[in-house]
Amino acid sequence: MTTYKLLLLPGDGIGPEVMVQVEKVIGALAEAGLAHFETEHDLVGGCAIDAHGVPLTDAALARADAADAILLGAVGGPKWADVAYEIRPEAGLLRLRKDLGLFANLRPAICYPALADASALKRELVEGLDIMIVRELTGGVYFGEPKEITTLPDGTKRAVDTQVYTTGEIERIAHVAFDLARKRSGRVASAEKHNVMKSGVLWKEVVTDVHAAHYSDVALEHVLADNCAMQLVRRPKQFDVLVTDNLFGDVLSDVAAMLTGSLGMLPSASLGAVDAKGSRKALYEPVHGSAPDIAGKGYANPIAMIGSLAMCLRYSFGLGDAADLVDSAITRTLAAGIRTRDIASDGMEVISTDAMGDAIVRELEQATA
Ligand code: NAD
Repeated sequence: MTTYKLLLLPGDGIGPEVMVQVEKVIGALAEAGLAHFETEHDLVGGCAIDAHGVPLTDAALARADAADAILLGAVGGPKWADVAYEIRPEAGLLRLRKDLGLFANLRPAICYPALADASALKRELVEGLDIMIVRELTGGVYFGEPKEITTLPDGTKRAVDTQVYTTGEIERIAHVAFDLARKRSGRVASAEKHNVMKSGVLWKEVVTDVHAAHYSDVALEHVLADNCAMQLVRRPKQFDVLVTDNLFGDVLSDVAAMLTGSLGMLPSASLGAVDAKGSRKALYEPVHGSAPDIAGKGYANPIAMIGSLAMCLRYSFGLGDAADLVDSAITRTLAAGIRTRDIASDGMEVISTDAMGDAIVRELEQATA
């Protein structure tokens, strides 16, 4: 059986607490003979600043480059609020994404039936929801130059961010979205603002061309990003795969996140280009941050982190069956009424991060015994 090299970067706040739960699941998968991993640990974010003065060392980056996949917890927290902008904790994560070329961010928004009442929307609107948001991650306004604040002659200031996309950048993210749609319901919605932005005009044109040239079996719909936000809270189940740029993806995926109940439930994948050997760089992480308000208290929900491992099994290693086993262990645990604090309704018993990890492992062990 292949041994996969996993780099674990727990990071800050609740990151290490939820990563421990993933390590238990990794152990259970190996025990059941489903997958074998060689795991290494390193630092990213505030803990790396404390140890090395930078949020990601060159050595950690080299380890990430050599790994088959990376699992990351979360970075940041008030302790590092005053460090220089260039070496803030989040810069470590941005460097990983940029240097490894992780341009495709996959953010599933799934509403488990057992949690439909925790959504901000009515049960009938969200029950069974299963959207995959594909966000471009290494281009657009977060990286475009110029990016600066200058002082004007009258002493006031002027801030500039630049939204830039090239044909190639749009083509490669469109391929990721269409390929995913083929494995799902065969529908893609592409969101931009071609009515007011040149980058939106090009985005729409290129997505249309890629569709026409390669994916006539997939249904494509264009939607303005503002309308998309509205539709997501009005009738979210109309979407399946939703592809969009870095900025709109940031906002729309957070909207979709709230449809599902809690940030603690949402995994993500960031993928690079497929190389000549058919493999790709990939980083898997929960959507949530380091949650300093609950760090160290045992309140953190580890499901987003464990779900990120399931995505890793599916997208990096082609272990769809093992991924299904992990996902269904999560579903059964929730169906049994087991809850961390963030997803508990009034009167429900609440268990700790550690106990939730154990409960999911138990379900996994029962399914593989
Ligand atoms: P956050 O996601 O850390 O927390 C938002 C709220 O959700 C908090 O009330 C928190 O307690 C709760 N929450 C988050 N994850 C949870 C979980 N697994 N279980 C239960 N509750 C959970 O966002 P924030 O408070 O805006 O940011 C805190 C720090 O995290 C900041 O330094 C921010 O920059 C950083 N951050 C990092 C990432 C990342 O590492 N990818 C993402 C977002 C924010």
